[in-house]
Amino acid sequence: MHEITRRELLAGVAALLAGAPARAADEPIPDDLLAFHRECRVLDLHIDTPLWMRLLGYDIGARHRNWLPASPFGWHLDLPRAAEGGLDAAVFGLVINPAEVREELMLPLRVLAWTESGFGIGQTLETLGVIAEAQRRLPDRFVFAKTGSELRAAIDAGRFAALAGLEGSQGIEGRLENVARAHEQGLRMLGLVHFQATEAAHPMTVPAFEGRGLTPFGRDLVAECERLRIVVDLAHVNAAGVDDALAMLKRPFVVSHSACRALQDHPRNLTDEQIRRVAEHGGVIGVAVGRDFLGAGGIPRFLDHLEHLMKVGGVECAALGSDYDGAIVPVPGMGDVTSFPRVTAGLLARGHAQESVKKGMGENALRVLTEVCG
Ligand SMILES: [Zn+2]
Repeated sequence: MHEITRRELLAGVAALLAGAPARAADEPIPDDLLAFHRECRVLDLHIDTPLWMRLLGYDIGARHRNWLPASPFGWHLDLPRAAEGGLDAAVFGLVINPAEVREELMLPLRVLAWTESGFGIGQTLETLGVIAEAQRRLPDRFVFAKTGSELRAAIDAGRFAALAGLEGSQGIEGRLENVARAHEQGLRMLGLVHFQATEAAHPMTVPAFEGRGLTPFGRDLVAECERLRIVVDLAHVNAAGVDDALAMLKRPFVVSHSACRALQDHPRNLTDEQIRRVAEHGGVIGVAVGRDFLGAGGIPRFLDHLEHLMKVGGVECAALGSDYDGAIVPVPGMGDVTSFPRVTAGLLARGHAQESVKKGMGENALRVLTEVCG
């Protein structure tokens, strides 16, 4: 009863805060550009919708409508709007509470940990179950994919596909055997850390951890992921941890949601040097849509970051990693998943070749997911 009351309270607050997708008084996109966008396989490397599915029973099958401007927080994805925006697939992020909340954990995540009783591996398995349940409920529209090939098949059959990625190793509680348990239930990507240090790695958002790279367990974890063919995600990992991971990774990997430090000095963004090294190691970087990551500006600002990745790391390293539904405030014009046709149109308008646009919109991400997961 106590639990339900807190959930209901949070649901009310969340509904109030969820804003209307900012559909800037945009001119319509010309039909030929829209047709090209629909031809692209569009894949986003990081969307946190399972958090709301688990916490509030958010139904991805129904269209959701928001009332306030700017659409902060969540309510950014559902299947009708994904279809409208030509978004074909995503890596669904699993936001998991740590067993023990420490000071460095950001406030919204502390609220979440206070609201929910679940944490660690139990909650990881629970959330994978929530995604599996969505597939059972929506068999014609939603696929819980376990490989790149399954993603491609679902996309080509017109079904929205999601691959599951853990946001931080607090979700496996410092035990390698838990990675195998989660893998059995469909986990195919693993972020080493979120906002609080784990047994494996340190977040880049806490200056006090500067210089502290992967722990011995962190190295074992990277090796175990590669053995099980789980994609390693270096988003949130501090610079020393990224260095350590790059020195040992044998398979391609991702930095699922980040942006460019040269354009916006935010600790979560990658320096040009890091972008080059990630690209050299076969990594792919997803660009997030949050105002904090990108700096002031609308869709052009998002395009600037995507272009910067292509320029510094090469066309092969660029991807989408919106962080929609991850308690972020998108830049104007990128209010929800219906915004993606404008990214395709914007890249073409800036003179990028169709093949390059296809790579950035999803083919690069699909390449890594397929190489690692099969
Ligand atoms: Zn994140």
